[in-house]
Amino acid sequence: TTVNLHQLVATFYKPEGKRTKILADELNFPSDIYALQSQLRIHGYDPDSHLIRVKSRDGRFLDEDDIIEAMTDEVALVVLPTVLYRSGQILDMERLTRAAHKRGILIGFDGCHSIGAIPHSFSDWGVDFAYWCNYKHLNGGPGAVAGLYVNSKHFGAKPGLAGWFGSRKDKQFDMEHILTPAENAGAYQIGTPHVLSLAPLLGSLEMFAEAGIQNIREKSLRINQYLMDLIQHELGDAGFKIGSPTEDVKRGGHVSLEHKEAARICKALKEKGIIPDFRAPNIVRLAPVALYTSYTDVWNAVQVLKEIMVNKSYEKFSNERGVVA
Ligand SMILES: *Cc1c(COP(=O)(O)O)cnc(C)c1O
Repeated sequence: TTVNLHQLVATFYKPEGKRTKILADELNFPSDIYALQSQLRIHGYDPDSHLIRVKSRDGRFLDEDDIIEAMTDEVALVVLPTVLYRSGQILDMERLTRAAHKRGILIGFDGCHSIGAIPHSFSDWGVDFAYWCNYKHLNGGPGAVAGLYVNSKHFGAKPGLAGWFGSRKDKQFDMEHILTPAENAGAYQIGTPHVLSLAPLLGSLEMFAEAGIQNIREKSLRINQYLMDLIQHELGDAGFKIGSPTEDVKRGGHVSLEHKEAARICKALKEKGIIPDFRAPNIVRLAPVALYTSYTDVWNAVQVLKEIMVNKSYEKFSNERGVVA
C-alpha cells in the first residue's frame, strides 16, 4: 500500500508556483503520513510547513466542510482516507473530489478500510487516483500485494517511479532501455509482484465478485448495526461509547468501541478467541465481516464481552498494547 502511495504521489504531485502543499488529515494512518512527508522532502520542501493536516473537531470524525476550507490555492494534491481507520467514518468522496477539482487540485484516496466493505465509484466521482491493501476486508493475507486505481483521464502520465513491470506487456521482454509504459493503470506497477501473495486473491476476489459488493454492503450494515444494538442492550452500563457514525451512509465496515480499559479488554477478548484491534488510546475495533461472520458469532462475541466486563477478567492484563495491536 505504502509503495503504491509513493508511486502515485511521485506521479501526480506536481508542485508549481505557489501551489506546493499536500493536504491530508490529522487522523490519517501513520504510514501514509510518513510517505507524504518523505515525498515532500524529496522535492525539497519542509513537511512541517508543506503537509497540511486538517484537524478533527472531536478526535473521531472529519468534517468535509473543514477539508474543503483547507483546499487553498497553495494546495497541489489532496490525499485522504475513504474510510477512517479508527472511527470507520466514510468521507463523502464525490463531494470532496468536486470541491478539489473546482479549485484545480488533484485528489487521491486510501481505500484500505473500504475495499471489500463498501461499493466505490471512483470513475463516476472523477477521483484522480486511489490505492488500497488487499489484506483487510479482501482477505489476501498479511502483506498481500496491494492495489491502485488511476482515473483513465490520466492514462499516459509518466510513472514517477518507473520499473519494467510498468511496461506494455507485449514490450516488457524486448529489453529496450526506453520504457514503453502500459496504456492503463498497469503503467504504475514497478517490479515483479510477489506471486505467492497474489495467489489467495484469485480465490478471494472471485468470491467477492460472485457475492456482489451491494449484497456485501447490505449485510455488513445490518450485522454492524446488530453489533451496536447488542452492545447498547447487553452492555449499556459497562462504560462503552460507540465511536462510529450512527448513520449508515457515513459508516464503513467496522465498529469502534471506546472504553478507558480498551487495551486490556482487547487482551481478554483475544484470550477467549475473539480477535479485535486495539487502537490507542481507548478503542476496541470490531469488524464483523459479511462473508464469514454470522449473527450468532456477533451474539456470542457480545456475550463473551459481557462476561469479561461483569467479572472484570480484563483486570489480570495490563492496560497497554502488545507489540502488535
Ligand atoms: C493497513 C493500512 C496500510 C498498510 O500499508 P502497507 O504498506 O500495506 O503495510 C496503509 N494505509 C492504511 C490507511 C491502512 O489501513
